[in-house]
Amino acid sequence: MISKNSFTNNLKFDIFIIIIVNVGLFFVFSKIDALELLYEYSKQHEDFELDEVLVIFISLSFSLAIFALRRLRESKILVAEITELAVRDSLTKLFNRRYFNRELEIEVNKAQRSNNHFSVIMMDLDYFKAINDTYGHNVGDKVLYQVSQLYTQSCRETDLVARWGGEEFIILCYSTQLEGAVELGNKILETVSNFNFNVVEHITVSIGVTTFAKNDSAETIIKRADKYLYIAKDEGRNILRHS
Ligand code: GH3
Ligand code: MG
Ligand code: MG
Repeated sequence: MISKNSFTNNLKFDIFIIIIVNVGLFFVFSKIDALELLYEYSKQHEDFELDEVLVIFISLSFSLAIFALRRLRESKILVAEITELAVRDSLTKLFNRRYFNRELEIEVNKAQRSNNHFSVIMMDLDYFKAINDTYGHNVGDKVLYQVSQLYTQSCRETDLVARWGGEEFIILCYSTQLEGAVELGNKILETVSNFNFNVVEHITVSIGVTTFAKNDSAETIIKRADKYLYIAKDEGRNILRHS
């Protein structure tokens, strides 16, 4: 895929080449006096109507310039759309795992250099396979979408909610200590278990919460959140466990 940087570099390179070629040709033609030659030639061969060729040449250059500018504008919009698609999950429209990992890496780097605290909440729906088996995959998909909306509504605008995969979701709580993340996790637990999901009616979620600790890497934080999530599963589901 063309990155934003190489797109800009290609554009700069093309503009550079166009300027060089045109300035070069300007000096060449100013030495040769090409228009004078063309004029003389067209006078000798009046039946060729070369003066009209010149007008067409100018209008063609102008049309091509407009054509190129319009394509450039379109390709910029396309790049923006593709970039957006690459970081979104198609079912829930939340950010995907790739985007989350990128943000987490950035946050870990920042936290290692400063006192900036952040926390991670990992969530996995309970007995979700049974929902697919009982009501079908389409109903399962609808539940996943509704759950993703509940997660987003429960969070602050600044929190990053992403689909980790399947029926697992994850939240990056910027500038949040463990207590704040646990509070949000409990709010999510309550919101999901109290929500009426039409056909399915009632579902629950298990949650693992952890916070950045000194010497953590993105991998160790995820591992720890995952560990506490599975402790929550082991200890009965519809509960939150934290480090
Ligand atoms: P547990 O309480 O231990 O988490 O049980 P579970 O049934 O939720 O766990 P398991 O990992 O066995 O099942 C996850 C299910 O999620 C299986 C899979 O079919 C379903 N699933 C994953 N992605 C999607 C999806 O995009 N749409 C639907 N409808 N189902 C999905
Ligand atoms: Mg799972
Ligand atoms: Mg599950």
